[in-house]
Amino acid sequence: MKQCIKCKDDLELEMFYKAKTKNGYTSECKKCTKLRISKTRKENSSNPEWIKKERKRGRDKYHRLNYKQYANRSRSDYNAHRKRFPEKYKANSAAQHISIEQGYERHHWSYKTEHHKNIIPLSVDDHNNLHVYIIYDMEHLLYRTQSGVLLDTKEKHIEYLKYIQTL
Ligand SMILES: [Zn+2]
Ligand SMILES: [Zn+2]
Repeated sequence: MKQCIKCKDDLELEMFYKAKTKNGYTSECKKCTKLRISKTRKENSSNPEWIKKERKRGRDKYHRLNYKQYANRSRSDYNAHRKRFPEKYKANSAAQHISIEQGYERHHWSYKTEHHKNIIPLSVDDHNNLHVYIIYDMEHLLYRTQSGVLLDTKEKHIEYLKYIQTL
């Protein structure tokens, strides 16, 4: 048990986020952390400077989680990921021969078999940025918007991409 410095509740350790602190956990509980973040978000949602910073933070996080880990992944991690998302590997190998401009990447809007070669070429920046705003739905092999709308056609996917670019 550990006491949250904010709400003063005595809680199980799993109610705290892991952190690089002495005891390995944050001093405020998950609930208080979430509350604090959503409060800051609300207060700053009309501040363009803050939004810009948040977007950059999201992009950096995406890079950290996806690219670095991907690059440094051990063989067994690679295999575990491959087992979990077999469609992504199939789709990537099906599309790898589709030629695209230099500095562009192949983005799959859908991982259904019939769409494995149906890619959207995106600049590296646009691609990274897009992945900050879409959530993969393993069941549908498609992506969802941040608010949960399933992007089940290429048109919807592109429309959402355009919307993101205006943010
Ligand atoms: Zn708390
Ligand atoms: Zn992509």
